[in-house]
Amino acid sequence: MYRDENGQLGEQGRHRQQLVSYSNRLLDDGLAVGSAGNMSVRAGDEVLITPSGIPYRDLEAADICVVGLDGTVRGGTAEPSSETPMHLAVYAATPARAVVHTHSPEVIALSAVCDELLAIHYAIVSLGGPVRVAGYTRFGSDALAAAAVAALDSRRAAILQNHGAISYGSSLAEAYDRALLLEWLAHVHRLACSRGEPRILTGTELAEVTAEMRRRRYGEARARKDRP
Ligand SMILES: [Zn+2]
Repeated sequence: MYRDENGQLGEQGRHRQQLVSYSNRLLDDGLAVGSAGNMSVRAGDEVLITPSGIPYRDLEAADICVVGLDGTVRGGTAEPSSETPMHLAVYAATPARAVVHTHSPEVIALSAVCDELLAIHYAIVSLGGPVRVAGYTRFGSDALAAAAVAALDSRRAAILQNHGAISYGSSLAEAYDRALLLEWLAHVHRLACSRGEPRILTGTELAEVTAEMRRRRYGEARARKDRP
């Protein structure tokens, strides 16, 4: 268990534990193998990120790296993830509090043959709509970071051609759930295409789903507020 110099778990310690446990889930859920993929959490002006090259099964809270928003390494004995520039670019361009990058198989397969993950199931509105595929550039490059950010415009997830996926959220749990949803949607897409020409939800139908979800969230929030 990671504790700070005063022996307290603290906010940073909790983020470290969470990153270790979600990294292991990445393997269990089949979203990556070995030490592939990476994830991070933003805490103020610092980003806690998984290290490069340590297999997730061996990862400990103390191995998590700390970098500034400008990429300056502020802590950790291991090298920060090779995709640190992409994570930092997402924090700079979006309200993300956590970022998850996977090498999940359905998404990678789709990226090699499609320019976009189309809306076969309405749950895609949780990702902001049809998910763009960012054109291929080498892992760890600034060009990849720029392509990912461009593909994320008004979206919460993007697919990286011949590589994987990236998603973000207001928490690590939310960013991770979006990575899982994206993989599931890519799976459904493959099943549909294997049976023929799929029907795609229209923009109007997606807007209707978004409006209904908003209305229900608003209703739930009001009910909570009105509760004695
Ligand atoms: Zn990668």
